[in-house]
Amino acid sequence: MGNEQKILDEIYSELKGLIGAGELANYIPVLSQVPADQFGIALKTVSGESFGVGDYQTSFSIQSISKLFVLSLAMMHTDSDRWHRVGREPSGTSFNSLVQLEQENGRPRNPFINAGAIVMTDYLCDFFDCPRNAVLDFIRAQSGNDSININQEVFDSEQATGHRNYALAHFMKSYGNLNHDVETVLKAYFGHCSIEMSCLDLACAVSFLSREGIGNDGKSILDKSKIRRINSLMLTCGAYDNAGEFAFRIGLPTKSGVGGGIVGVLPGSYSVAVWSPGLNSAGNSELGMKALELLTTKFDASIF
Ligand code: GLU
Repeated sequence: MGNEQKILDEIYSELKGLIGAGELANYIPVLSQVPADQFGIALKTVSGESFGVGDYQTSFSIQSISKLFVLSLAMMHTDSDRWHRVGREPSGTSFNSLVQLEQENGRPRNPFINAGAIVMTDYLCDFFDCPRNAVLDFIRAQSGNDSININQEVFDSEQATGHRNYALAHFMKSYGNLNHDVETVLKAYFGHCSIEMSCLDLACAVSFLSREGIGNDGKSILDKSKIRRINSLMLTCGAYDNAGEFAFRIGLPTKSGVGGGIVGVLPGSYSVAVWSPGLNSAGNSELGMKALELLTTKFDASIF
């Protein structure tokens, strides 16, 4: 370490000719209107220094990256018995698949597919009157940015077109795997997905995962064992159906979203966020993956 900005600048100049690569998410209509020619990276070291390049201060829709904050908050408020309702295995199917859920009696494979995050949101409903604000407050506190908010247009678009998420939620409710009513849980879930923030905000907000659970204010928010568990879930389940490819090429625990963002951590060293809206066929940012691969190659360090 010590050459972080130089490495980010190198990555930017090596990839800038590819900006705009990939396909925009179109199943949430508003996301397909985002200009594709954007690319940013931000990195925060465990000692508190931040670095950035490109569009690293531009806000974007975090989408499924929110599942990481939902899980973290749920783990702050619940003990180990939550796992009888959500598994810890990669799904091997798409993030919003119904088929597996039926075969497995309404118990989602992991907290990072939609069904699993909906169950985790249901947990939060046990602890918070407004889980949507609880997640937002958590993100604001960890990133140190109180202006982070939900994009109402994205929220409305998700709610209007979220038929599969409604199907997943009703299905789990029929198996007794949701305690709260579907509308309440999904309103919170869509709210979490519609949060907008920048790469810099994200790199700061996930810093606790690289610092053994030490939060933005220097106090412990999750114990080391829980942090290891969250990071292990990121490695095995955080990148849709590309978990193997991410481990092979990047070698960091990561979580991606269909807004084109990816966060990653090298425990004990740094947290990183990349963003470029064009996605590959698995729903991961095309350029984001390349950037992270270059990052771990240039730093010559991964979790392996
Ligand atoms: N809000 C999206 C959905 O529920 C999240 C998709 C994603 O980023 O994986 O379908």
